[in-house]
Amino acid sequence: MPERAPGELPVTELKGVGPGLAAKLATLGIYRLGDLLLHLPLRYQDRTRIVPMHELRPGDECLVEGTVVANRLAYGRRRSWTLLIEDDTGRVMLRFFHFSRQQQSNVYEGQTIRCFGEVRFGPTGLEMAHPEYRVHHAPPPPPEGRLTPVYPTTKGLGQNRWRTLSAQLRGYDWPQEEGTPFETLMFLHEPPASTTFDQIDAARERIARDELTTYYLIMRHRQLDRTHQRAIALPRAQQLGRQLLKRLGFRLTGAQRRVVTEVLNDLDRSQPMLRLVQGDVGSGKTVVAAFAAIRCAEHNAQTAIMAPTEILAEQHYLTMSEWLEPLGIRVVLLTGSQSASARKPLRAAMESGEALVAVGTHALFQNTVQFHNLALTIVDEQHRFGVHQRMSLRAKGSTPHQLVMTATPIPRTLTMALYADMDVSIIDELPAGRQPIETRVLQDGRRDDVLRRISAAIARGEQAYWVCALIEDSNTLPARSAETTYKWLIGVLPQAKVGLIHGRMPADEKARVMREFKEHRCQLLVATTVIEVGVDVPNASLMVIENPERLGLAQLHQLRGRIGRGRAKSYCTLLYAEGLSEAGRARLKVIRDSTDGFLIAEQDLKLRGPGELLGARQTGEQQFRVADLREHAHLMPEIVSRGDALLREAPEVCQALLRTWAPADTDHISV
Ligand code: ADP
Ligand code: MG
Repeated sequence: MPERAPGELPVTELKGVGPGLAAKLATLGIYRLGDLLLHLPLRYQDRTRIVPMHELRPGDECLVEGTVVANRLAYGRRRSWTLLIEDDTGRVMLRFFHFSRQQQSNVYEGQTIRCFGEVRFGPTGLEMAHPEYRVHHAPPPPPEGRLTPVYPTTKGLGQNRWRTLSAQLRGYDWPQEEGTPFETLMFLHEPPASTTFDQIDAARERIARDELTTYYLIMRHRQLDRTHQRAIALPRAQQLGRQLLKRLGFRLTGAQRRVVTEVLNDLDRSQPMLRLVQGDVGSGKTVVAAFAAIRCAEHNAQTAIMAPTEILAEQHYLTMSEWLEPLGIRVVLLTGSQSASARKPLRAAMESGEALVAVGTHALFQNTVQFHNLALTIVDEQHRFGVHQRMSLRAKGSTPHQLVMTATPIPRTLTMALYADMDVSIIDELPAGRQPIETRVLQDGRRDDVLRRISAAIARGEQAYWVCALIEDSNTLPARSAETTYKWLIGVLPQAKVGLIHGRMPADEKARVMREFKEHRCQLLVATTVIEVGVDVPNASLMVIENPERLGLAQLHQLRGRIGRGRAKSYCTLLYAEGLSEAGRARLKVIRDSTDGFLIAEQDLKLRGPGELLGARQTGEQQFRVADLREHAHLMPEIVSRGDALLREAPEVCQALLRTWAPADTDHISV
């Protein structure tokens, strides 16, 4: 029997790793030695050089050594213990707020002390707060020979433990094959003393390239897999789509027509569709979903529409019922807040195939739902979902066609590689007659101004949103909460009916408030970012966003997309708190000056990184181990061409990469 490759061995192979430690490592996704090898340091400390004190600068993290010249207790605002130390070139103060009497009495003036910590400005000059320190009685040993790695970790797992674990990796016979080179990885675990940060970045980039290439390969495998799967072919059978077209009350935009055609062509085939529809907020994605569901219904096959929130599910249900029921297609809504008895007949209608379209939140579909003949799943606002969730609904039917819709304008460089398993359609045109939204950036102090505008708009019969970053007041965060704002607005706008909606309210309560607003029984809606996705109330023409500096640009763009949907000219006011930095103001200006989701996304990618953009694909379970898309996005075109070349010419390298990078608990190889 061939010996197992070291990468496959369980971590319990290592000295000092028992079941307890193994369990802790497992929480970080580390099961095998291969996982440990890929668990790279976040950053490094330089303990290789003793820094002369005159070189110290605030913000430096460094090693110093000197003689204790004063040992005192200081009684300022907080009691602290201070040690003043000096070398031939200068002095620095060590300050401790937590200390024991014993610690304090173990240090004498005149002793040599070596310490490591971060330098900052103190009341009397440069100091280090809570440095690690050691008093030396004999001549001190030489400093470390390598940079000291700092690992991402979890509670109860100290840095020293990580270092002893990674040091043991050298003791195995790692294959010198085509995959990711062991030597580069070990270099990142234990960089020699002379290593520069540029060298570290270059090594990380080398590794990130392999990781992203592997991800791309996996996506391409999935795409290939799909060509071998069978789905129900859904050619045009009746003229139901045409009937909807007549009843809509608006003409489809050219982009909508193009995308509907692409989707219907996919459905025509017996190979399962997997198509991502990207379209900026308000571009009209829902109607594309409706045409797909109708095509399905023409074959008496079922469609499941998944939304990330109950508010959105409810809204899709209303829209779909309005469009589809007149065509004789029964639509049902499933929500978590329905009672079991209310849900029972709905589920029966789905199991019997009597209901052809079911709308609900993804959680609901995952658990309990049986379909008679599921042929199509539609996932709205995909960036809210993880890959796992997509998978599990897919497993419900035979192989349903899948349509994924997102308003997240993922930059093209990223889609090429990260969504390589999908076909992509873009709705790059807004319905005609939309007036551009005018956005203003105002300081908090101009609140009264804003109030006057809202009051006037309400008098004209329009509606407004007032969005807050927080639900309740917080002691630590200086932001105005939705609850406080709600109470305040009731007081200052007695003529208006004000509503409040936030994520912690019970679902039926949320649905009630939303319906009231939609039916214009309430003029001003105070909301948290729960309304960020999908909410569609065309009569709402004003939006105020409190503390916009706390939100990402893409998120602000999504929020603002709730207005500008009707005939009235729409205004968005970003009401930022006092003391906003230059950079913060610059970010808000990006929003003020553009309503182009792609441009904003590109800026956001530069300013914040793509985590927020990509949702669960990038955070949570799909997180990359090494690659950081903010740093490495520019590699994507190269990753794609390298990946394609490897698939054509070097299957053994593909295999080696997959073996190295495929996480032990993954679902994405086998799907
Ligand atoms: P999103 O792409 O953000 O999901 P929706 O599908 O919610 O957008 O559409 C936004 C609004 O625009 C809805 O009220 C919808 O009925 C309307 N709409 C969609 N397509 C058109 C069109 N071609 N012309 C006019 N209005 C449209
Ligand atoms: Mg939508």
